[in-house]
Amino acid sequence: MSSDDCVQRLCEINSKEIQEPSKRNYWNDLIWKKIIVLLYVHIIFIYTLTSVHTFKMNTIFLASVMYILSGLGVTAGAHRLWSHRSYKAKLPLRIFLAIVNCMAWQVPIYDWCRDHRTHHKCSETDGDPHNARRGLFFSHIGCHLVKKHPDVIKNGKKLSLDDLKEDPVVMWQRRYFIPMALILCFVIPTLIPYYMWEETLWNSYCACVARYCVLLNAAFSVNSFAHLLGSRPYDVSINPRENKIVAFFAMGEGFHNYHHAFPQDYSTSEFGISKLNPTTLFIDMMAFVGLAYRRNKISQQMIGARKRRTGE
Ligand code: ZN
Ligand code: ZN
Repeated sequence: MSSDDCVQRLCEINSKEIQEPSKRNYWNDLIWKKIIVLLYVHIIFIYTLTSVHTFKMNTIFLASVMYILSGLGVTAGAHRLWSHRSYKAKLPLRIFLAIVNCMAWQVPIYDWCRDHRTHHKCSETDGDPHNARRGLFFSHIGCHLVKKHPDVIKNGKKLSLDDLKEDPVVMWQRRYFIPMALILCFVIPTLIPYYMWEETLWNSYCACVARYCVLLNAAFSVNSFAHLLGSRPYDVSINPRENKIVAFFAMGEGFHNYHHAFPQDYSTSEFGISKLNPTTLFIDMMAFVGLAYRRNKISQQMIGARKRRTGE
């Protein structure tokens, strides 16, 4: 069997025969630039927590609005629209989602979708970018501090990404991602409080970095906590779980056992907007005004059958 066949085999394994991750020496693969940046962001976050009483309410309110907008860029945009094609969006909504996605400054939508599709295809194998079988730290943040496992790269290359390449909004966002992310994630949100309500420049900046830090951890938590803690009512043979705390911070993305069982559901949850799912509320509002359409929803009959067949 060739190494490619081995990789393919790893990704096709039945979840009941999941294998332990291969041994790896992380010291050779550390990405020091990312380690320093993420360390810095977390130090500023802790400092912000200890000095939050010095911030004006307007500044905190702006950071909250920015959190929601940038969160939607990831959840409604990169995840539910572009990675899973679980609903369709008209051009103005796609442009809006691409812009607010820059506010979250993770990676461009194209790269985010490639990695996320790889995660679903190769979940909890060496081919998974944030393989939860390597532990909580690796799946949460460690995977971002080291070079990707060769199987992740191989499997990412095997995926068909033609739908993304054919979307001019996605490719435009990828081309200008760094300057747009810098301006939308940090520069403008720092200058608004300073000029509009005379917040100090330092406080404005710290609020901005702290908001960025919380959203990053919310996104990381879907790959870590929601793969390790919670119930498995839909498929007990896979590790992703229903985690309400993650769902709260990640704007509805914590119902992860359901999402891995039914990744094509635009709500990423059985329950839609009735339970901790502001992203679904946003997509429904966009559908109401005609900007979103063809929302895929799994029928109660199918969900019930799956629960009886593979649920806890
Ligand atoms: Zn997952
Ligand atoms: Zn997904």
